[in-house]
Amino acid sequence: MENSFKRRKTRPVRVADLIIGGSARLAVQSMTNTDTHDIDATYKQTLALAEAGCDIVRITAPDVESVKTFSELKRRGIKVPLVADIHFDYKIALAALEAGVDKIRINPGNIGSREKVAAVVSACRERGVPIRIGVNSGSLEKSILAKYGSPTPEALAESALYHAGLLEELDFHDIVISVKASNVPSMIAANRILAAKTDYPLHLGVTEAGARDRALVKSSIGIGTLLAEGIGDTLRVSLTDDPIKEISAAREILRALELCENSGMDIVSCPTCGRTKIDLIPLLERLERRLSAEGLDKLNIKLAVMGCAVNGPGEAREADIGIAGGVGEALLFKKGEIIRKIKEDRLIDELVEEIKKFKI
Ligand code: SF4
Repeated sequence: MENSFKRRKTRPVRVADLIIGGSARLAVQSMTNTDTHDIDATYKQTLALAEAGCDIVRITAPDVESVKTFSELKRRGIKVPLVADIHFDYKIALAALEAGVDKIRINPGNIGSREKVAAVVSACRERGVPIRIGVNSGSLEKSILAKYGSPTPEALAESALYHAGLLEELDFHDIVISVKASNVPSMIAANRILAAKTDYPLHLGVTEAGARDRALVKSSIGIGTLLAEGIGDTLRVSLTDDPIKEISAAREILRALELCENSGMDIVSCPTCGRTKIDLIPLLERLERRLSAEGLDKLNIKLAVMGCAVNGPGEAREADIGIAGGVGEALLFKKGEIIRKIKEDRLIDELVEEIKKFKI
């Protein structure tokens, strides 16, 4: 979908069949929260994430034993690219690469000797696997922290560039960078600094954002501000919740900025007011559940659910289909034109039938 945001030019990085950066669409990521050693649970959640529209799934690899899960997930037919999240131990990275992961997240500055970094780089190069550098405000290097006094945006950016530099010394450039902070202004500022200094694709996220409304607002502002400036190639909305919810939240951010193709149904609904003639709030809830149950929410159309016929059709003129509430009935309209009246008790059934016609 075309919009007015001019995307920053970045180096395309391949992750299995998916490209991050360049002119590729923005990739949505999430992370499993199962015990990686529990293959069945991790398989189930990875599959659910992929089915929900997650483009890349990150799985923590806390020890060498846990990497079995990656090969087993591949063996069971998981197609979504898998990222092994590794801290410090290069042996886990080598084992994960051996197990067939599509990307590893490791900070080379934390691995230890140059030989160990070289071993990881060489195994990545051999398999065409990129490395994501992930800098977090909570785990900055002591020297950088000492220099800046606190995890300032400059400190976060410097840390990311330090890790990238270690890979560049080995002529390795298949790098994706993420700098995350729970503080939204810091996260925005750090990414702006990186966007000005490097052409590596950037993975956006507000870390430890919390739960529910707070997390959604923080992520929407942090990620959304940067995307609106053309910065960012991939994103994760971190929620203290079921990771499946991260996918719909990410898609809503992309949809709000018109950065998402095939984002599914866009539902506009009025906030209700003194003019509302229909019990709109529960009606919308029931309708959304029904659309989701019948898979109609995947249709790329705009649906308007409006409370009155005064402003309803006019406000929703751009919608493909919609209803505007009246007393005991509602007007059905398409492209802002009124088509017919529907009795209130038949509303959801008939609207769903009309929506199904868009499938044909
Ligand atoms: Fe009120 Fe009608 Fe606007 Fe809904 S569409 S907020 S009912 S004026």
